[in-house]
Amino acid sequence: TTGTPAFRRILLKLSGESFCRPGGSGISVDEVSRIARQASRVASLGVELAIVVGGGNILRGGQLSRDNDVIKEATAHYMGMTATVINGLALQDAMEGLGCETRLMTTIRMEEVAEPFIRRRALSHLSKGRVIILATGTGSPFVTTDTAAALRGKELGVDVILKATRVDGIFSADPEKNPHAVLYPHLTCEQVLADQLKVMDLTAIGMCMENHLPILVFNFKKEGNIERAVLGEPIGTWVSA
Ligand code: UDP
Repeated sequence: TTGTPAFRRILLKLSGESFCRPGGSGISVDEVSRIARQASRVASLGVELAIVVGGGNILRGGQLSRDNDVIKEATAHYMGMTATVINGLALQDAMEGLGCETRLMTTIRMEEVAEPFIRRRALSHLSKGRVIILATGTGSPFVTTDTAAALRGKELGVDVILKATRVDGIFSADPEKNPHAVLYPHLTCEQVLADQLKVMDLTAIGMCMENHLPILVFNFKKEGNIERAVLGEPIGTWVSA
């Protein structure tokens, strides 16, 4: 692809579902390779790239704690955060294998496998063209990696959060169930909150709204879409703050 990136620095939020087969769980090497290929191409466009990885393909704290009364809710969330490290490690190797230099950083210290997240160090990696992969979310239970994306996005001064999903953007209804659902090309955070549209969790949306951080929701399943998003092509739904 040729073209000039529309953004200088971006944060890509990859949910756990990007690491497994549709409807599945765990790690699919094929899916990891696919997402790594797309992310590496974005980095080669010269845009500074931070990736926040989710962990829902392995474990969601909220779900686990609802389903049992043995593991405490906070513990379940910590388990979810450590799950994101598994995805981060997989993505790191896949991207490095493609010649893309990366650093895996965690907020919960795990120094045998990843660097601790230190803002100034993260910015230094970005300025050297390294992709930073951010795992363990915010490091605190009861929130999600979407909130971590909003928080780190603000902290790192990104131009936009790219929220990769399985559908083309935000629709008036669930497009996987309702064939009459229409895609919104543009929305505001207020509309998302008022209509309870499923984009990111409420904390994350609120944070983006307060901090004037736009979100682009797009389909990562279509090969080349992450690059298109970075090049400013009109895909998905643009949510302005
Ligand atoms: N989590 C948490 N704090 C954070 C980020 C994540 O407690 O800052 C836990 C939470 O239980 C969550 C799980 O980690 O369900 C996995 O993350 P998430 O559900 O955001 O993954 P995704 O939906 O993106 O796959």
